[in-house]
Amino acid sequence: MRIIIFGPPGAGKGTQAKMVAEHFGIVHLSTGKMFREAINEGTELGKLVKSIIDEGHLVPDQAVVDMVEETISNNNYSKGYILDGFPRTVDQAVAFDNLLERRGESLDMFISLHAPDEELIQRLLSRGEGRSDDTEEKIKTRLEVYKKDTAPVMEYYKHSGIYWAVDGTGSVDEIFQRILSALPVR
Ligand code: AMP
Repeated sequence: MRIIIFGPPGAGKGTQAKMVAEHFGIVHLSTGKMFREAINEGTELGKLVKSIIDEGHLVPDQAVVDMVEETISNNNYSKGYILDGFPRTVDQAVAFDNLLERRGESLDMFISLHAPDEELIQRLLSRGEGRSDDTEEKIKTRLEVYKKDTAPVMEYYKHSGIYWAVDGTGSVDEIFQRILSALPVR
């Protein structure tokens, strides 16, 4: 099973992706987490992306697409995966479609989580993970970047037949139940 979980910063993608991955025994792939690990390990990629991520901007498409392609190609995710934080631009979505096509694979579900801006901001400010991009100023930038560059990805998938909008407000468990009921297999 291959799933994309999509939404603005603070929508709960990471939390829900982890739960969905555990539920189905699939792999949780978070591009943000991969980048943060690269930064902590001091790799070339980490050095390249650190200031971009600290500022709340997007890493260039090619670097993200290469990383995702390498991860998927080098691992045998036989049961599938849930992508969290990717694709974040329409160009990334197109590149991902090409990758799937080359591999003779397809996407099963695109879950789009929604929540009002005030709730997103409150969640990000209070999540306390110590992230350098969870400050008020950087959150504002990330929401602007989301609206300008990432929200159009929804339009890209809207007519694909696998698009599901899920209400991302309420408790973690309530949201998870909504996601499960959207999925073809439970
Ligand atoms: P996240 O953990 O998903 O909130 O991602 C944290 C940061 O990593 C983002 O603000 C971006 O700077 C960078 N990032 C993660 N995924 C992507 C992506 N698909 N495209 C561009 N930048 C990304």
